Amino acid sequence: MNARDQIRSRFVDVGARLVAPSTSARDRAGSFDRALWQELGAAGLFALSTLGERVVAVEGLVLGSLDLGLAVSVCAQLVVINVIATEGTPAQQQRWLPGLRAGTLLGACANAEVNAGTDLMGLKSRARIDDDGVCLSARKRSITNLGACDLALVSARVVDVPAREAVNVFVVDTNTARVAQRLRSDLAGLRTSPTGSLVAWRAQLGPSCWVGARGDGVRLFRKMFSDERISTGFLYLGSLKACRDRALLHAERRRQFGQPIGRNQYVQEKIVKMQVGIDLLEAHLWRVVDDYDAGVDLHGSLSVIKIFGVEVALQAALDLGRLLGSRGVSTDEPAERLVRDLLGLSILGGTVELMKMIVYDEARRHLSLP
Ligand SMILES: Cc1cc2nc3c(=O)[nH]c(=O)nc-3n(C[C@H](O)[C@H](O)[C@H](O)COP(=O)(O)OP(=O)(O)OC[C@H]3O[C@@H](n4cnc5c(N)ncnc54)[C@H](O)[C@@H]3O)c2cc1C
Repeated sequence: MNARDQIRSRFVDVGARLVAPSTSARDRAGSFDRALWQELGAAGLFALSTLGERVVAVEGLVLGSLDLGLAVSVCAQLVVINVIATEGTPAQQQRWLPGLRAGTLLGACANAEVNAGTDLMGLKSRARIDDDGVCLSARKRSITNLGACDLALVSARVVDVPAREAVNVFVVDTNTARVAQRLRSDLAGLRTSPTGSLVAWRAQLGPSCWVGARGDGVRLFRKMFSDERISTGFLYLGSLKACRDRALLHAERRRQFGQPIGRNQYVQEKIVKMQVGIDLLEAHLWRVVDDYDAGVDLHGSLSVIKIFGVEVALQAALDLGRLLGSRGVSTDEPAERLVRDLLGLSILGGTVELMKMIVYDEARRHLSLP
């Protein structure tokens, strides 16, 4: 077993032992468990150094637990850690990284707003530079880990600077005066992950809140999206593999018409589609990870992860539900939860439609069309 396989199987075990026993109950209650989060930190989930290690840990966690909500929170935390570790100041790193890595702190990437969803450049949050540092007025909504988090990377436009320097990202301690966060309680999917909103009303952040160089916001968006799209790609992969395994076992064991239902080609087709999805997604994901490590531009290939990965994982969850017969709609089975979670996943981090727009633009550029 190579090092990555070892990490994957370590986190399959962590997922099965620590997470899976309570996933269904947390999903029903719509709750996030901070003690469990710390246990994940203690298991080393947030302290892995390379992208390859982090993504196989996410895949393993999902395979072992089928808790996509918790895995979404993990992906957001990993993005925050990577941004602060690579772009933060030494003071920010000293202040935030030990707690984030230990799982005693929870972080969020807060970009989306009421009028800045698919079109993120419509963001209206404002930051004003003053004698005390930065004064932030922001409204962010539907953000993973908000409602329960300790710090958030918040994007805003700085006023009175040239347009090209306007978009910036700030690290915000959610305990700062005039900063409030609120949990959403209406979500049908990803219920084991907190999702919420943040309001900053002329909040004084101090001078050490800037992440990256001045005017670096758009580049930091790209960095956050790259990390998030790759790690959620491995989340889809873990979900697909778990659906295939559950479907295959049931197809071989459940007998109808005097034989296992897996002898029927309509049943086989569902499992074959899952296997084809796994093979193609896995190959694409590792190509992207290698390109990421080599510093190659990833733009369209990140969108392919989402367009292909989330759709094939959602179809697999639907097919698993059908293949299980009446058990498929039971809340004791993961299929219906996976469908709800994957619908949420098709929206967060950029919708499938947005990804298609990106791939279409890239195809046009390929032909050098004006
Ligand atoms: C559970 C959850 C967690 C989230 N976590 C985060 C987070 O951690 N950080 C963060 O910043 N955001 C987060 N989001 C927000 C998410 O990124 C946005 O919801 C998403 O980008 C879509 O924005 P919107 O909801 O405003 O939809 P809209 O932008 O209003 O889009 C509505 C529909 O129109 C389509 N559409 C819009 N414009 C076009 C177009 N030009 N062509 C074709 N179709 C189009 C969209 O694809 C979508 O189907 C989260 C959302 C959810 C549901």
